[in-house]
Amino acid sequence: MGTEYQKYLESPHWKQTRSKKRGRTRGCGICGAAESLDVHHMNYRELFDVEMSDLRVLCRTCHRFAHVLHRRGAFRFTSTDHNHRWAVLKAAVKANFRESRPRPVLMDCIVTREWLMWFATPNGGWNAQHMIALGVTWPPPKGWISGRVGKPISQSMAAAFEAAAC
Ligand SMILES: [Zn+2]
Ligand SMILES: [Zn+2]
Repeated sequence: MGTEYQKYLESPHWKQTRSKKRGRTRGCGICGAAESLDVHHMNYRELFDVEMSDLRVLCRTCHRFAHVLHRRGAFRFTSTDHNHRWAVLKAAVKANFRESRPRPVLMDCIVTREWLMWFATPNGGWNAQHMIALGVTWPPPKGWISGRVGKPISQSMAAAFEAAAC
């Protein structure tokens, strides 16, 4: 990374842009974590000409891991379109999600987005067994994730969900 870029990251312009972006977002765009949030550039134009749409909020863990996967060549962008890039990056992080963090433990059996994602299938999705375990109809309706996150489930439902992708 160039010194000009390092300097830019220290500049009031970037700090302002970053906090504006963070302020508009509730959490990590991949795992939903609400803490340790970073702002990632989907595209680099002129440093001082950053567009909000080129930025995505990610937690430190997903952010670091996204850069690791990129260095490893785990994904490739075929366009500069920020929606394309975001879809590609997100799919790669989700598909390798278990590698990015230790197995999450549910506190008081309260469902977290991270837990849902950690126990997803290898392509980052969920199957009918997962939904049965959570008492969600199949195919799952839109918004089922936000309907479950933050709610308690029983030990046996949690165990069935964790075993669903095996
Ligand atoms: Zn995250
Ligand atoms: Zn980044």
